[in-house]
Amino acid sequence: MLNTNEREIQLQGISGSPGICIGKAYLVGREGVDVVEKYFISEENLKKETKRFKKAVKKSKDELFSIIEQTPKKLRPHDSILEAQMLLFKDKMLYGETIKTIEKELVNAEWALKKVVSNVKSIFDDMTDTYLQGRAADIIHVSESIMQNLVGAEKEDIAAIEKRVILVAVDLSPAETSQIQLEKIMGFVTDRGGKTSHTGIIARTLEIPAVLGLDNASRIIKNDDIIIVDGTAGIVIINPTDQTLIQFEERKHRYEVYNAGITRDSHLPAETVDGVLFQVMGNIELPEEVVSVIAHGGDGIGLYRTEFQYFNRPDFPSEHELFDKYKDVVEVMAPRPVTIRTIDINADKAISYASDSDETNPVLGLRGIRYCLQKPDVFMTQLQAILRASAFGNVRVMFPMISCYDEVRHAKRMLNEAAESLDKEGVDFDKNIEVGIMIEVPSAVILADVMAKDVDFFSIGTNDLIQYSLAVDRGNTQVAYLYQPLNPAIIRMIKHVADVARDHGLKISICGQMAGDPVNMTILLGLGIDRFSMNPQSIPIIKSIIRLLNVEDARLFIKEVLKETTDTGVMELVLNTFGSILFDIGYTEL
Ligand code: PEP
Ligand code: MG
Repeated sequence: MLNTNEREIQLQGISGSPGICIGKAYLVGREGVDVVEKYFISEENLKKETKRFKKAVKKSKDELFSIIEQTPKKLRPHDSILEAQMLLFKDKMLYGETIKTIEKELVNAEWALKKVVSNVKSIFDDMTDTYLQGRAADIIHVSESIMQNLVGAEKEDIAAIEKRVILVAVDLSPAETSQIQLEKIMGFVTDRGGKTSHTGIIARTLEIPAVLGLDNASRIIKNDDIIIVDGTAGIVIINPTDQTLIQFEERKHRYEVYNAGITRDSHLPAETVDGVLFQVMGNIELPEEVVSVIAHGGDGIGLYRTEFQYFNRPDFPSEHELFDKYKDVVEVMAPRPVTIRTIDINADKAISYASDSDETNPVLGLRGIRYCLQKPDVFMTQLQAILRASAFGNVRVMFPMISCYDEVRHAKRMLNEAAESLDKEGVDFDKNIEVGIMIEVPSAVILADVMAKDVDFFSIGTNDLIQYSLAVDRGNTQVAYLYQPLNPAIIRMIKHVADVARDHGLKISICGQMAGDPVNMTILLGLGIDRFSMNPQSIPIIKSIIRLLNVEDARLFIKEVLKETTDTGVMELVLNTFGSILFDIGYTEL
């Protein structure tokens, strides 16, 4: 809670989807899922109890199936999110374990389900990665639906809401968010969820403001309270004063005008005032997100995080399954490029069936390219799938977490082997496929000139580069103040890699979060970065600022930037020099 006066309360959460809405709160209940009683079942009633559980599961499955069938067209690309939840109904961890618990402990189905879910939750809670926590949320959503059917609770029919309201809930499952009627629901706020939760992804597709992870908003906000949802800042204001209302009405208006402007122009090329053209591309995790990249005017996909296809399943995907997904993405984007990054699993993206050992320091452990080189079968399967997909459009392949030259040579040898084997089979693929590496470990920065001989492009992963260079865990809020992209050490590292790339005639991109923040653009242009890749929603604003900049000025500006000794000094310099341009694109007002 940030501040309170007599009536007005302001809550800080996580920005789920940008934009501002003002309206009446509508609380979505989750009756029956929180208070569960425990009782014992006699041996002779055991069968009846498991049957009752199976019946509730079947009912939830049928309900989800009918939601999938009625999903609005705009959300069709997200069907797979709901389909993945369909599979969870038969998941061993949830379905199998609940039946086992009923049978072993002779307890009622509700209690068994609650116990199993709290075990699953505690496993996921120990993982710091927000993506994995999002997957835990999927299991919780599915189990809550089963629980409601077990206890016979009324389910909220979001599709039937008749008033213009803002939804307030402990959580909204992807199934619930899929039922949102855009003419009725202005936005939503939830206690749970984060940026990478499916609920957040769907909110961004619907393009309605959403604030997630508010902890206790559903307890503080009452039905019909007037609330302001600022999805850009991640703020919710309850019962605003007249003064606050006027202030946010104005802000809302400015945001809408600004958003309409940048969206209208998002399909224009990102060409600077002095005529230099840049590629502004999107990062995707799920194949469905290509739609969003195209809708926001992306010039391609600069980072396809393929590891997400390895989650929520019992075993590694086959070459055919991978190929199918890659081909879809590549065909939809063609002739625009699709940069497929080979799997960056483990550390913060651990996969149960892919982790053989307990590592005390997984972020420095067997992850990314290291994992792939130690599991040649898994790597080869993916490389062949990528090569096969390359026949259907413009594919680039990229290796993550490179920390020494041997890794580049080894990975390229395996790529060549994959190509030879496809050649022998007579399979078509792009023989001139561009090969790149991610620069996200300090040793790769220092050895960039060595690596440059073997690759076609560099892509700087600033999310990890900042983490490893500044020794700041990217997910640790206690040291978040040190996680600064504008730390002069980071700027000098980017400069070094960009200089090497230019000297060797390589293209260089940035695909970490740093590329999606307009404040960093003058610096990145001045340093000589050619391509940028970011979350799709940031593409329009980045394109619009590039159109207002001049590369020559940016190059001169870098000389001043390099004299600065602190991140705050760099930020001040940027704001003093380019503040008016940032203001023009509406940045300071957001
Ligand atoms: C990065 O590290 O900057 C990056 C883009 O990769 P990821 O965020 O997937 O680690
Ligand atoms: Mg990374």
